[in-house]
Amino acid sequence: MQKRILITGAAGFLGSHLCDKFIDEGYHVIAMDNLITGDLKNIEHLFKLENFEFYHHDVTKFVHVAGQLDYILHFASPASPIDYLKIPIQTLKVGSLGTHNLLGLAKEKNARILIASTSEIYGDPLVHPQTEAYFGNVNTIGPRGVYDEAKRFQESITMAYHRFHGLETRIVRIFNTYGPRMRLNDGRVIPAFIGQALRGEDLTIFGDGLQTRSFCYVSDQVDGIYKLLLSDYSLPVNIGNPHEITIKDFAEEIIALTNTEQKVVYKELPQDDPLQRQPDISLAKELLGWEPKVDRSEGMKSTLDYFKSLSEEELFKKDHKDFKKHILK
Ligand code: UDP
Repeated sequence: MQKRILITGAAGFLGSHLCDKFIDEGYHVIAMDNLITGDLKNIEHLFKLENFEFYHHDVTKFVHVAGQLDYILHFASPASPIDYLKIPIQTLKVGSLGTHNLLGLAKEKNARILIASTSEIYGDPLVHPQTEAYFGNVNTIGPRGVYDEAKRFQESITMAYHRFHGLETRIVRIFNTYGPRMRLNDGRVIPAFIGQALRGEDLTIFGDGLQTRSFCYVSDQVDGIYKLLLSDYSLPVNIGNPHEITIKDFAEEIIALTNTEQKVVYKELPQDDPLQRQPDISLAKELLGWEPKVDRSEGMKSTLDYFKSLSEEELFKKDHKDFKKHILK
C-alpha cells in the first residue's frame, strides 16, 4: 500500500524539496504550511498531482489529518536570524506547541516522526567541529534564543515521547543548507550576498568576516534526511557539509562567481552570532552510509542560476513577506 507522509513547513525551502523527494519516491504527500515564511510558488508545480494535497494550516493549533499516516516530517519554523527578530513568539510556538501537536498526531496515527533540529542547538560552540555528544553553549535570552531554545525543547519533548510512549522518532540536526528556493530577503548570508551582487550593491560582511560556516547543498541535505527517516536510530544525527569557510572568503567567492566588481563593506556583528560552525558527520557516515556529494562550486552555480531566474521586480523588492498580515489573522 502507498505510504502517506505529512510534511509541515512544506512551502518553505527545505520542506518544498522534501515534498519533491517523497513524491519522486512514490509516497502520497500531505503538505501543510501557514505561509508566514513559506511561499506557495515553491510547491505550485505539485498541485496537479494526485499524490499531493496541501493544507493551509498553522501547526501551533490542533492538527487533524484524515486517514492513515505512516510518517511525519516536522519542518515548519522560521529559520533565519532576521525572522526570529520579526516573529519571535511564532518561532517559539512552532518549535514547542507545534511539535507537541505533531507528536500527539504521530502517537494517534502510529506514525514515525522526524523533527528538524539544527546546529543552533550548539549555540556559539566551544567544541569544534561539533559532534552530537556536545551539549552546546546557548544564550537563552539573546535574540537567537527564541529559535535555539525552541529547538532544544523540541528535541527534549521528542525524546520524552520516544521514551515514555515508545513513539518512533528521528532527530536531524541540520547545519547551514543552501540551494534554489531560499527566500531572497530572509537575511541569510547566501541569498543576501547573491542578491547584493546581482543588484550591483556592496556585499555586507558582519563583524570581521572571520567567523566560519560550512554550507551543505540542498540535495545532499534531503538525501541525509531521507536516509535517517528510514533508519532505526532515534538519537540526534548531524547532517551538513564539513567544508568550512570564513564569511570573508565566501564573499570573495561570490564576487568571483557572479563576475561582478562589487566591494565588501563591514557591518556590526549581530549579537550571539556563532564564531565557528562545522559538523562532525562521522555518525551519519557510519550509520546511514551518507556523506555530501555536491561541492560548493557546483552547488553555488545552481543556486545562482535560481536567483538569476527571478524577475527584476522580485530581485529589487525589499521583503515580499508581510508577517503582520498573517499573524493578526
Ligand atoms: N552574514 C554576513 N552578511 C550578511 C548576512 C549574514 O556577514 O549579509 C554572516 C552572519 O553574521 C553569520 C553568517 O554570515 O556569521 C551566516 O549567517 P546566516 O544568517 O546565513 O546563518 P547562521 O548565522 O544562522 O548560520
